[in-house]
Amino acid sequence: MRVDLRSDTVSTPSSEMREAIAQAPVGDDVYGEDVTVNSLEERVATMFGKEAAIFTPSGSLANQLAIRMLVAPGEELLAETFSHIVRAELGAAAVFSGITTRTWSAPRGLLMAQDAIDIARPDSGPYQVSTTAIAVENTHNFGGGTIQPLNEITKLHDMAEAVGIRLHLDGARIWNAHIASGVALPEYAKYFETVSVCLSKGLGAPVGSLMLSTKEKVGRARVWRKRYGAGMRQVGILAAAGHYALDTNLSLLQHDHRRAHFLAEKLHAILPSVVDPTHVETNIVSLDLSYISLSAAEFALLLKNEGVLISALGPNFARVVTHLDINDAGIEYAAEVMSKVLQSALVMQ
Ligand SMILES: *Cc1c(COP(=O)(O)O)cnc(C)c1O
Repeated sequence: MRVDLRSDTVSTPSSEMREAIAQAPVGDDVYGEDVTVNSLEERVATMFGKEAAIFTPSGSLANQLAIRMLVAPGEELLAETFSHIVRAELGAAAVFSGITTRTWSAPRGLLMAQDAIDIARPDSGPYQVSTTAIAVENTHNFGGGTIQPLNEITKLHDMAEAVGIRLHLDGARIWNAHIASGVALPEYAKYFETVSVCLSKGLGAPVGSLMLSTKEKVGRARVWRKRYGAGMRQVGILAAAGHYALDTNLSLLQHDHRRAHFLAEKLHAILPSVVDPTHVETNIVSLDLSYISLSAAEFALLLKNEGVLISALGPNFARVVTHLDINDAGIEYAAEVMSKVLQSALVMQ
């Protein structure tokens, strides 16, 4: 058996999704004539209570278009130390937009509004960089699929607004937060001027993200998307996959969450320090391998030999992610193999 738990991006489109792709009416989207893209943009904007949305090939581009709309060259964006914008977009904010970033660190990526506000320096004058915006990641990827609490979000919003700092939501997995917490999507979105969402993570589309904001900002982002070379033509075939994902796969995320929790319980039973199941809120399981005789890379290699793939992201840190292509049999097999390898690493101590 092969069970690929490296990321929720590795799922492949189902035959039903491929059928939806095949049937999609399309047009030239650079001319604004792709009806499937247009309806997806309207649909997702409405789902989040925003005026408008723009379809992008990646979540990184959706984030980059958003922060470009909020922060001028030479100004500063604050984000958590392990946020995707800071760690996984290869310096795009600096390279493309002349934006500097500064970070605050949060255990599990869990937002504490005061931590962000403490390092904010709006209107710093001619000697220091001025903070213009703060980005929040919900759920927090490298933090372990952490859901950001609404009370901290609202607190951050109020404190940021009081000093004229703008907010961006990196909502690549906001769907997971919504399904797990029951908080409505517009409630999550309303505290942020710009929002990015991904269709290619747990929702299982092969490609596609959207940036949501006001009509004015989305209009300006359209210019920058084309300038970055991401104006796309008959891209309704991809937007159709997004429609299909929202119709069918959104409600299935609960099963990813259930399976991630199941795995966490199993591993916790072998060695409690590896993972606290109460911290596994969505589809990501972060493993702390500090107290076993294997490095994360060694642990991952032993699993790989038995067909279970995970991501070793640090010397003693690994990540496991459930997704559409992992069923109950798959997670049970993975739990069995991982338990066995974990057990053997204990014995060797
Ligand atoms: C995956 C992800 C993105 C976007 O990634 P792309 O690979 O560029 O689509 C953005 N933010 C977070 C938190 C992510 O996990």
